[in-house]
Amino acid sequence: MNKYGLETRCIHGGYKAERGQAQVPPIVQSTTYRYYSSEDMAKLFNLEIADFMYSRLGNPTVGVFENKMAELEGGTAAIATSSGQSALLITILNICKNGDHIISSSSIYGGSFNLLKVRLNDMGIDVTFVDQNADLEELKKAIKPNTKLIFAETLANPAMTILDFEKFRALADAAQVPLAVDNTLASPYLCNPIKHGADLVLHSTTKWIDGHATAVGGVVVEAGTFDWEAHKDKYPMMVEADDSYHGLKFYETFGNMAFSVKLRAHMLRDFGCTMSPQNAFLSIQGLDTLHLRMERHSENALKVAQFLENHPKVEWVNYPGLEGHESKELCDKYLPKGASGVIAFGVKGGKAEGEKLLEALELASMVVHVGDIRTSVLHPASTTHRQLTEEEQIKSGVRPEMIRLSVGCESFEDIKNDFNKALEAI
Ligand SMILES: *Cc1c(COP(=O)(O)O)cnc(C)c1O
Repeated sequence: MNKYGLETRCIHGGYKAERGQAQVPPIVQSTTYRYYSSEDMAKLFNLEIADFMYSRLGNPTVGVFENKMAELEGGTAAIATSSGQSALLITILNICKNGDHIISSSSIYGGSFNLLKVRLNDMGIDVTFVDQNADLEELKKAIKPNTKLIFAETLANPAMTILDFEKFRALADAAQVPLAVDNTLASPYLCNPIKHGADLVLHSTTKWIDGHATAVGGVVVEAGTFDWEAHKDKYPMMVEADDSYHGLKFYETFGNMAFSVKLRAHMLRDFGCTMSPQNAFLSIQGLDTLHLRMERHSENALKVAQFLENHPKVEWVNYPGLEGHESKELCDKYLPKGASGVIAFGVKGGKAEGEKLLEALELASMVVHVGDIRTSVLHPASTTHRQLTEEEQIKSGVRPEMIRLSVGCESFEDIKNDFNKALEAI
């Protein structure tokens, strides 16, 4: 598939019907798969053959989605999960345990922030949050001997800052650990983090990948670039004989797909955060039109951002595609095809007026979502980032009056008129 452009891979990636087979990947609604010899069964359980055996560990429909994602991100393999949250959780638990340390940008999705700050802390995994705009020397101060992973988002939700990949790659090299990047807000159409040095790429597929607000899901894509053998003191679980698989050595056996095989064999097997075949089907169908939607989302969002910027009742607009935005240079470098569909803005009069605006909108829906084809709005401080203190909210880019707007694929004129009318009403 790599000889084809990204648009072609969105449509044809991951699956090709053989003679007389279904043109569209079928939903294989089966928990289990039949075999005829005990020897085959033993081989399956030893990971000697990679066929399906039980849908917690893998399913043909989910497999098509995983292959398609690996092709779109340019990875060696991908593992689908039940949600974006579980994708991040099992990425971390695959290589970190009690006593380990992670460095994360503080400009991340509220749910991820909570997972890292509260839940991992409860498990004895320590996280240092850094300002991703600090210079490299400053960032390096966060490195500890037990640091195992660096985490950031391509396009931070909802702060709208763009990651300086070059700097974070240098940070990961200095720490000698993998760089994991959440690429949810950009999608594989607008940015491929692997091209810019990421070792692992995560998505909440719930957002742009599904794109129609129908299926919660996540995925982890492996670049196959990290040399686990060279750092086996830090990652013995990737290199040494594994007791739960009769002495299997993941890196030696599976090479540049070792992280993914271990995710499946340990994390999906033991935690069970598996994507369902039905959700995989919907996510595959979403990917079929990803390129068309992202183009329109980005085009509409830029026009809406420009409209809001020039409206007298709007105090500020944060969209990385706008001239003069603090991330504009990084946006041109890493997201040259568009800056995606999310805009953050504040109206004059602060939180109270902002709430009135949301209620005055007719076409745009008040929902806890981004990435839908329908224009969506939300007040993060009282919803997604509600559990954070005001100081933490500000650190993750959420001001009290901020409105998060996910621009849909409707006609620009209709979206503009909706906001114009609502702004006049406040
Ligand atoms: C929504 C989101 C998540 C969490 O994904 P779920 O599918 O809701 O579990 C993680 N990261 C980002 C950037 C998100 O927008």
